[in-house]
Amino acid sequence: MLVDRILDKQAAGRELTVDDGAALFTAEGDSLQRLLTVADGLRRRRVGDRVSYVVNRNINFTNVCVKRCGFCAFSRGHRAEQGYFLPREEVLRRVRQARELGATEVCMQAGLAPRTEGSFYIDLCAAVKRAVPEIHLHAFSPEEILYGATLSNRTIEDYLAALKDAGLGSLPGTSAEILDDRVRDLISPGRISTRDWMRIIRAAHKLGIPTTVTIMYGHVETALDRVRHLALIRDIQKETGGFTEFVPLSFVASEAPMVRKSLVTGVRTEITRDDVLRMYAISRLMLDPWIVNVQATWVKQGPELAQACLDAGANDFGGTLMNESISTSAGAPHGQFLHPTAMRSWIRSAGRIPVERSTTYRTLRVFEQEPAEPEPPWSEALFGSYSQLIASPDFRFRERTVKLA
Ligand code: SF4
Repeated sequence: MLVDRILDKQAAGRELTVDDGAALFTAEGDSLQRLLTVADGLRRRRVGDRVSYVVNRNINFTNVCVKRCGFCAFSRGHRAEQGYFLPREEVLRRVRQARELGATEVCMQAGLAPRTEGSFYIDLCAAVKRAVPEIHLHAFSPEEILYGATLSNRTIEDYLAALKDAGLGSLPGTSAEILDDRVRDLISPGRISTRDWMRIIRAAHKLGIPTTVTIMYGHVETALDRVRHLALIRDIQKETGGFTEFVPLSFVASEAPMVRKSLVTGVRTEITRDDVLRMYAISRLMLDPWIVNVQATWVKQGPELAQACLDAGANDFGGTLMNESISTSAGAPHGQFLHPTAMRSWIRSAGRIPVERSTTYRTLRVFEQEPAEPEPPWSEALFGSYSQLIASPDFRFRERTVKLA
């Protein structure tokens, strides 16, 4: 049978082709079970039984955006009542609080606010690093990098170098969705092109700025689109070695404008458990041995399914997040943070060993056993909810030039 033949080919150490990967997407029943088992075995051989997580905080400093991506329920237009913009002091307060709660990373991504000054992202980096020098700044999607460079009339290389000088540690490899312009034009017309996304990622890697890499799947794309995306990032990784991890993100349809307003036909609105597990297993097989870290994303699919992904090729449980806004606004019901104790509990009950890691996968602490004194609990009141944020007059976006002052 075809699926078995492809799995045998992989076991013999031969790289899977795009056609092989597409054929694996037909796996059902016993074939699917074998696919998951092979991916799980490969994960064990590559990275063992440790499952990592990072203590981090998301800071989505504005939801105001000049673009209108059809899948994005987070963004608001600049005149919208619910448009917010966090002042610098509030961003820095969140960074300091995150550090006090044990975070080693802040992840900052946001909308592309109109009338932003070109130096905005650089100034923001510098301000965060001045406030908490030891925090790792994982910030700005390739879309934001392109925006900042264009606004400041600088080359991508020059802009990235300035960000690095200001303290940027790594980039999230988001705004990738599906790296195929036909799909991108359907779900997010006007979005950064595949070519520009690759150009920025390559430039970052060349400058020694590592990045993650994502896929957003489960909307209009075909199995072939997914596999081509995997093959493309595998090729970049062979060339640069700059990706730290691969993060499959399942599409959350409930609040997405392209679904709610029926802007695009043929959008899938539900993703099955089998489809999620199949995606993880095929990612592990296609990317091996080039990208060894594959992240299960509790915020998109919930901790229970994320835990199941650990048996389908994943070896990382993602971040604690503290203020998750993007999936929450899209209708994902899994909360805006996962406490480190809960992270470890999900990992341990999967029969694996929890490890706290840095953003770049340095092992910080191995938890063979739970600490005698666990970290204090967190609450939504400690962080503030997304609905409170968009209702807050204190942070309302006002039409003005956006700068850090
Ligand atoms: S995905 Fe990003 S660029 Fe697109 S509308 Fe949302 S915030 Fe804006």
